[in-house]
Amino acid sequence: MSSTSIKTTCCIAGGGPAGMMLGFLLVRAGIAVTVLEKHADFLRDFRGDTVHPSTLEMMHELGLLDEFLKLPHSKVDHVSMQIGADHVTIGYFDTLPVHCKFIALMPQWDFLNFLADHGKRYPGFDLRMQTEATDLIEEDGRVVGLRARTPQGELEIRAGLTVACDGRHSTLRKRAGLTVDDLGAPIDVMWFRLPRKAGDGDEVVGHIESGRMLVMLNRDDYWQCAFVIPKGSADAVKAKGLDTFRATVGEMAPFDVRGRLGEIGSWDDVKLLTVAVDRLRRWYKAGLLCIGDAAHAMSPIGGVGINLAVQDAVAAANILAEPLRRGTLSVETLKAVQDRREFPTRVTQRVQILMQNNLIGPALEGSGTRPRAPLLIKMLQWPLLRRIPGRVLALGIRPEHIRTLDVMAGRDAQP
Ligand SMILES: Cc1cc2nc3c(=O)[nH]c(=O)nc-3n(C[C@H](O)[C@H](O)[C@H](O)COP(=O)(O)OP(=O)(O)OC[C@H]3O[C@@H](n4cnc5c(N)ncnc54)[C@H](O)[C@@H]3O)c2cc1C
Repeated sequence: MSSTSIKTTCCIAGGGPAGMMLGFLLVRAGIAVTVLEKHADFLRDFRGDTVHPSTLEMMHELGLLDEFLKLPHSKVDHVSMQIGADHVTIGYFDTLPVHCKFIALMPQWDFLNFLADHGKRYPGFDLRMQTEATDLIEEDGRVVGLRARTPQGELEIRAGLTVACDGRHSTLRKRAGLTVDDLGAPIDVMWFRLPRKAGDGDEVVGHIESGRMLVMLNRDDYWQCAFVIPKGSADAVKAKGLDTFRATVGEMAPFDVRGRLGEIGSWDDVKLLTVAVDRLRRWYKAGLLCIGDAAHAMSPIGGVGINLAVQDAVAAANILAEPLRRGTLSVETLKAVQDRREFPTRVTQRVQILMQNNLIGPALEGSGTRPRAPLLIKMLQWPLLRRIPGRVLALGIRPEHIRTLDVMAGRDAQP
């Protein structure tokens, strides 16, 4: 095995939504980037596939929306929940001040390939698949790059800035010794698919009953189903057997799926997501910045993880592009990224934890009494208030806008 060394302006570890969007925006602004992705491709099932109106609006600002919407996707324009005997609608997107008043459900690999294809049109975009960041290189108390494992051998990358976008099990944040606060998550999720048939309806549907919860996302020809369970109980669910699992799904689905349950052929068709909600106290140190799940793992509630990761990337590009170009990047610049993004992250996690602890957690305990929709959720059904949750869900707490230059177009993107 050989060892090679290269130099770049910004090295990004992790080709998920945060890393690919940051890499694309920086190279579009004329800054050389190397993006490392440990897998050979972006094809992974049951990752977040929700592209919210805030992200679609950024695609518009980039002049890419029409092309992006040519990719296969389904549209969600509201979300319904059956909570015990109460039926509630959580999101109304029809009055949002954006071009797309819907959530696009799109395979995450299509989204990432789209960003990669556009990044490759700019000189200076160096995307390296099958390249896994393994350690940081530190000199005089400053991160000056990283080490990576490739099929050809060890790679050393020296960079003015290293960005950890390597997800919620981030290797780089561990190596940097940054402190993570675990905010707790009482749930895990078992994901599986069921075929979709005409007449099923086209909404996102959720159903909470004593002791169980099922969410179904319309993916055109199939339903992406999330069976929510108390944390750590996957083995107990499996011990009851696949037939019991199938029967429970059949009881929980809002329409008749009994003829399709055979599609869950074995436990291999059911993927476990161990839910974590955590946040770094400090997202940076000299020469290193963490964004996306590497800075804050999100609960799947609201499906906002991708969009927060994308908004982090946009904010980071807006703040970092000029200092990177001029070579004036300082720790204060990195702190400015955390200062910008920490508040929306905290508020979003707080709301997720409130829902976990006050609605989903107690309902999963299965006390025997049917759960009811909390008063706040019932109040949010009132015509004057009902657009508030949709707006927060769709746009986030602090929507970001593209402020970086497009060197190819020689103009700033229109905010
Ligand atoms: C099963 C599941 C379902 C989810 N559903 C939703 C949803 O519906 N909607 C939603 O918005 N969010 C959802 N999420 C969360 C969402 O996927 C994440 O919040 C979002 O992808 C975070 O983006 P990221 O770029 O920060 O990290 P990730 O998407 O985790 O990307 C990190 C990337 O880095 C790569 N990587 C990791 N370590 C290294 C390394 N050492 N070197 C190089 N590369 C590395 C990984 O392969 C990965 O491609 C879900 C998550 C899971 C696991």
